[in-house]
Amino acid sequence: MQERFCKCGNQVMVQYHNKKSECWFTRFWAIGSTFGKTIRVCPECGCPLDINSLK
Ligand SMILES: [Zn+2]
Repeated sequence: MQERFCKCGNQVMVQYHNKKSECWFTRFWAIGSTFGKTIRVCPECGCPLDINSLK
């Protein structure tokens, strides 16, 4: 898992999966009360989480 930050500054965790020859996909977790839940948007600002746009 890697630590990333949304552009609003919210911290999220990212895990990469590689399903054999298929494309990589990523799962995001929020830190805090929603930890453990896969999220697709930032719980703080609602931005879609895109691995390429996260720092
Ligand atoms: Zn955000």
